[in-house]
Amino acid sequence: MGDTRGFLKIKRKTAGYRPVEERINDYSEVEAQLPDAERRAQASRCMDCGAPFCHWACPVDNVCPEWQDKLFRGEWEKAWMLLESVNPFPEFTGRVCPALCEASCVLGYNDEPVTIRQNEFAVIEKAFEWGLVIPRAPKRRNDKKVAIVGAGPAGLSAAYFLNRFGFSVTVFEADNKAGGYLRYGIPDFKLDKNFIDRRIELMTAEGVIFKTNTRIGRGKYSFGVDNTNTTFVDAKDLEQNFDLVLLTIGAREPRDVKVPGRENKGVVQALDFLSLQNRTLAGENDERVEPITAFGKRVVVIGGGDTGSDCVGTSNRQGALSVTQIEILPKPPRHRPPEEPWPLWPKVLKTSSSHLEGGERLWSINTKAFIGENGKLTALKACKVDWTQEDDKWLMTDIQGTEFEIKADLALLAMGFTHVVQEGIVEDLNLELDARGNIRTQGSFHTSNPKVWAAGDARFGASLVVRAIADGRAAAEAILRKLATQ
Ligand SMILES: Cc1cc2nc3c(=O)[nH]c(=O)nc-3n(C[C@H](O)[C@H](O)[C@H](O)COP(=O)(O)OP(=O)(O)OC[C@H]3O[C@@H](n4cnc5c(N)ncnc54)[C@H](O)[C@@H]3O)c2cc1C
Ligand code: SF4
Repeated sequence: MGDTRGFLKIKRKTAGYRPVEERINDYSEVEAQLPDAERRAQASRCMDCGAPFCHWACPVDNVCPEWQDKLFRGEWEKAWMLLESVNPFPEFTGRVCPALCEASCVLGYNDEPVTIRQNEFAVIEKAFEWGLVIPRAPKRRNDKKVAIVGAGPAGLSAAYFLNRFGFSVTVFEADNKAGGYLRYGIPDFKLDKNFIDRRIELMTAEGVIFKTNTRIGRGKYSFGVDNTNTTFVDAKDLEQNFDLVLLTIGAREPRDVKVPGRENKGVVQALDFLSLQNRTLAGENDERVEPITAFGKRVVVIGGGDTGSDCVGTSNRQGALSVTQIEILPKPPRHRPPEEPWPLWPKVLKTSSSHLEGGERLWSINTKAFIGENGKLTALKACKVDWTQEDDKWLMTDIQGTEFEIKADLALLAMGFTHVVQEGIVEDLNLELDARGNIRTQGSFHTSNPKVWAAGDARFGASLVVRAIADGRAAAEAILRKLATQ
């Protein structure tokens, strides 16, 4: 441990964001960065705990105390080597991870936690700046071939490790480019897509084969349309031509709101809206897709989570007249509630950079109907709700007499995802589903078909980038154990 009293002398300092009046006019990343000296001082706050709860909380088993120490000492290369020994893509988690580690940092017990996520960002970007991150192809290849379906963080992580273990890996991706929701969900102002391209180039140079615009099975395409140049490959072909098929197709079936007036023009799924903006910035728009814009509109975002917050930020950038975000659950507390003590992850009020850019937030609101004129949305009818607890169950009741209308020209449905898209590859391969409708994996990662495995959101439901990366790594390790013995 570098400075044994660092945490006593130095207060937590985050880099903050670029000024609102500047960032609202562009889609560049909003987060600012600290100079190196201040970043190293932040790392010195780490106490090198005997039981590092940051490590306990991190899905990729980040060895935080070890690399914080190297960072404090200015040994950037060693810090990077420790960081990437467990996490193949710190440049993604360093940008978008909610930092489960920080919620469990021992310093957070009665002080403010170490800035672990931003320190991680600084280390990986320094490694790229210094040219340390170079392609490292395996020295020897085995004779086994693995097909990965879906190039989101789970598929990319599995591909990264399997390739390094010496397997021949082909990643099939239905969309234009690899990245999954990193590329066509999360807005550019949180994650610039050049950083995904940079990683894909490295992986390609290391020998991973990417086949984009290639849909396995003939299912529906969530969010967008298949390109005219999309190739369709029968799922059974993969089974025959590869030693193992790993499905990392995400959990992309969006939750809907089934109330009167849903059919009005202007009521759209959040991901249709968000992915279109990302495609526009990338120059990838498909002329067959009708544009959706918030420009000059009164926007209501239904759903108070991350996707909803991304809709707020994107609507403001597009020039919305007003943005109102409504959430059916009650307003979370500002501070850690007693039932979620440290080191657990607390459900507290989250104010993102997008919320600071304008708009109103309402909680405990139930959507009752969409109102339209000539088939076009003009307002949303809602009411307040009350939440009561009976035994372990929360019950919601509409509060009589609280009905109200919000004028709206665009309603964005950002209520999360129910499960994996079942139509297409999942049905083609006749895979069993779990109680929530995701792909059932048995014990490890294998599905009801022993040659087909699944990882990431596709098997545990919509979650986080870091969990997808961790699951991809664990699946790769399990595949190594399985195929190495055959
Ligand atoms: C708007 C939004 C914002 C988010 N923000 C954050 C955040 O800030 N932090 C965070 O940690 N998490 C965030 N998440 C969640 C995170 O992005 C996901 O949990 C993560 O991407 C899941 O990874 P995955 O690889 O399992 O699936 P996905 O990222 O969904 O990737 C699945 C891939 O499979 C492809 N595919 C599907 N079917 C086929 C087929 N038949 N053939 C070929 N390819 C196919 C898809 O095109 C896609 O590329 C966000 C999600 C969304 C939607
Ligand atoms: S819990 Fe916090 S202080 Fe302790 S080792 Fe981890 S980052 Fe450092």
